[in-house]
Order: sequence, then structure tokens, then C-alpha cells
Amino acid sequence: MKANSVVIGSAKTHTVRTSAHCDVAVVGAGPYGLSAGVHLKAKGIAVRVFGEPMEFWAHKMPEGMLLRSPRVASSLSDPDRAFTLEAYEATSKREPCAPVPLDTFVEYGRWFRHQLASDLDQRTVLRVDRDQPGFSLTLQDGEQIRSKYVVIAAGIGPFKKKPAVFQNLSPQQAIHCYEGRDVRKFAGKRVAVIGAGQSALESAALLHEANAQVEVIVRESHLRWIGMHSWLHHMGPISSLLYSPHDVGPVGISRLVAYPRLVSYVPLRLRDRIRTRAVRPAGARWLPERLATVNITTGCTVSQASAIGDEVALKLHDGSERRVDHVLLGTGYQVDISRYDFLPPELTQDIRQFDGYPKLAGGFRSSVPGLYFIGATAARSFGPLLYFVAGTDFASRELVSGLSRSGR
Ligand SMILES: Cc1cc2nc3c(=O)[nH]c(=O)nc-3n(C[C@H](O)[C@H](O)[C@H](O)COP(=O)(O)OP(=O)(O)OC[C@H]3O[C@@H](n4cnc5c(N)ncnc54)[C@H](O)[C@@H]3O)c2cc1C
Repeated sequence: MKANSVVIGSAKTHTVRTSAHCDVAVVGAGPYGLSAGVHLKAKGIAVRVFGEPMEFWAHKMPEGMLLRSPRVASSLSDPDRAFTLEAYEATSKREPCAPVPLDTFVEYGRWFRHQLASDLDQRTVLRVDRDQPGFSLTLQDGEQIRSKYVVIAAGIGPFKKKPAVFQNLSPQQAIHCYEGRDVRKFAGKRVAVIGAGQSALESAALLHEANAQVEVIVRESHLRWIGMHSWLHHMGPISSLLYSPHDVGPVGISRLVAYPRLVSYVPLRLRDRIRTRAVRPAGARWLPERLATVNITTGCTVSQASAIGDEVALKLHDGSERRVDHVLLGTGYQVDISRYDFLPPELTQDIRQFDGYPKLAGGFRSSVPGLYFIGATAARSFGPLLYFVAGTDFASRELVSGLSRSGR
């Protein structure tokens, strides 16, 4: 083991120990990283997956949340499709539930990860550097690992959007939905929820049930709900022609997005239209009933937000005003790989991109040899399935064959 001192990031000095090598290092142990790791390991590849398993789901999603994706699209991927959600429920003697509760999904992911055994390393990766012929990864305790290939499966955590109008509010006053895990602390508070997507609407329902005074403020003229025409899904072979079981996107588009490789051949402008149409803001079908007594203001945006003592004053475009204690932002995510703080600028600037998304070729290969991206960052190349757990199967299989092609 070698030891020397380096400066990482701004001014922190770590003692670096170069102690281990692997063929493939996977950054992130969410559904994508765990699935990819299991596939690579099964091929006999020396892989190490870094990160706390299911951290984003366990610590960032609101307590009491239900998965929007159907059960059939909520399994992680392993080569034999043996470690499914159903297999976990049978092993742990849990009653199968639909929709799937957050806790069940987190526990399922933690059960799934045991396939990786000691190839899972729970430490955070602080930095990824090129170190020809591969990469070196610096871990939270200063240890350095060398790897020929690096797969980034680090999710959407750093990409949350905070619209400019809310920038002046403190982090306690304007909270992104994915930071509002414990909704009980908002009991008795006035909360304005901004947004019309699943995160915003489900958070509003949970806040309301936790006795907060909630108002949802929505730019769109009306709210959209997914799965309201459930009869369309119960017409046997006709339904299979209209929708894929993953249920991402509307009739027809749903079938196309189930084939990410096919989507990757569609011209970018059309691919973008398919992607945005498939994931436009909408709430799950079990939410309208839970929101029946919640104030919902549609067709309105917030033009000004200012802190007045402990309160937040909101001015809306229709001229009306609101005074609340907190604003919960369900304003979505914008992929921008330069916001992964473990990727130094000298590396990201060499990655060919379209507006923050890496341009990926077959096998999820980026323009930097040996560097791969899976999950949401791959959605601009392979379509919207990559935003969801349902994309883990395609991503893992394609990644393994891509790495094999690259002559590992
Ligand atoms: C509120 C909400 C609800 C959602 N509901 C659904 C749903 O019902 N169904 C569905 O399919 N999708 C849903 N999604 C989308 C969901 O985020 C993705 O499907 C899923 O998390 C993708 O998995 P991932 O592994 O790419 O990312 P993540 O689950 O985010 O995992 C990435 C992991 O990487 C880790 N990481 C990041 N940087 C580092 C580092 N430097 N070192 C080590 N580890 C690192 C993070 O801690 C994180 O745990 C939802 C998203 C949100 C925000």
C-alpha cells in the first residue's frame, strides 16, 4: 500500500492510500448501481459498487410514499430474474401490496444487495480522476481505488430544480420535495406546494394527512392523473399492443419506450418530444381522493417570494397573495452532470453532452474512454425508461455487453 498527501476539492488535505484495484467501479448503490453490479459480478468481472444501498430512497423520499410504478416495473435486475420484488416478498413473508409502499421497496433493495456481498463498499466516492489507462477513485476516508472502467449510477439527487423566484428563501423556508422526508414536522403549519407532478401531489396528500394546512399551486390549467382509464389496461392482447407492462408514457409511446435501443436510433428532436411527453407532470390515480379537500389553485405561477420574519409571502400572477410557513418545491429535476461534485471539471469538459446529459453510445459508453453512465443521465440517449427502476434490466444487460465488446 502506498501513502502520500494530496489536495482534494478546495482545501481539504487527505492522506491517500492506493490499496486496491478492480476492473469496474460503480458509483452509486441505488437500483441501477446494484443491478449493474450484480450482472457484472455474475459475468466474473471484478466489480466494486460504492455507496450506501438505496440511500436516496431510504433517506430522501417522503415517509409513507407509495411507488407510482406498477409492481411489475418495480423489480431490480439480476441475470436470472430470480431476485424480484415477488421473490423478496415470498422470502420475507410479506403480503404483496399494490401500490408498493416505500418501506417495502427500500427493504427489498437492501435484501437484493446481499448478492454483491463484499463487492459492495458503502463508502462515498469523493472524486473520480483519469489515471491512464483507467481511473482512480478517491473515497471518503482518503483511500484510492484504481479501476479500468467507471460506471456512474449516482441518480438525480444533485439535480433538483429551485426556480429563481424562490432563490432568496432560506433552505428551511423553501424545501425541495425530496428533502421533506418527515412530513409530521409540518403539522399545524401552512405549506404551499408548488408543482403538478407525482412528487408535489403525493407530498401534498401526505402533508394534509399529517394535519398541515396545504395549498397546491400549479402552473397548468388542470391536473392530470395517470391510470384513470384502467379499462384500457384490461383488454388482454389489445392492451399489450397499446401499453408495455412498464407503463411509462401514454398509449403507443409506452410500447416504443420499452425498447430503449430502438429509441436511441430516433432523431434527437423527436426523441426529446417522446421523452417529455412520457414524463409530463401527472399524479397517480390514488391521489385525487386523498386531495379532495385540499386547496388546489391551477393556472397560476408564483411571481415573487419573500421572507417576512418567519413567514413567506407569495405573490401570484393573478394578483393574489399568500402567507405561509413553508414552500415545498415539487419543481422537478434537471440533469446536469457537472453538478456531480465527484466529477472534476477537467473530466466533465471532455464528456460530450447535450445540455447536461452525456451523449452515450451503445453499452452506455460516454465519449471519455472507459466512462459509462446509467440511470436518469442516460435518458436523453436511450429514452424515458431510464428514469425508472424498470430500465435497470436493459441498462445492466446492455452495459455488460458493451463492456465485453470494449475488450475488457
Ligand atoms: C419522489 C420520487 C418518486 C419516485 N417514484 C418512482 C417510482 O415509483 N418508480 C420508479 O421506477 N421510479 C421512481 N422515481 C425515480 C427514481 O428516482 C428512479 O427510478 C431510481 O431512483 C433510479 O435509480 P438510480 O440507481 O439511478 O438512482 P438513485 O436511487 O438515486 O441511486 C443513486 C445512489 O447513488 C448514490 N451516490 C451518489 N453519489 C455518490 C457518490 N459520490 N458515492 C457513492 N454513492 C453515491 C446516492 O446516495 C444514491 O443512493 C421517483 C423519484 C422521485 C424523486
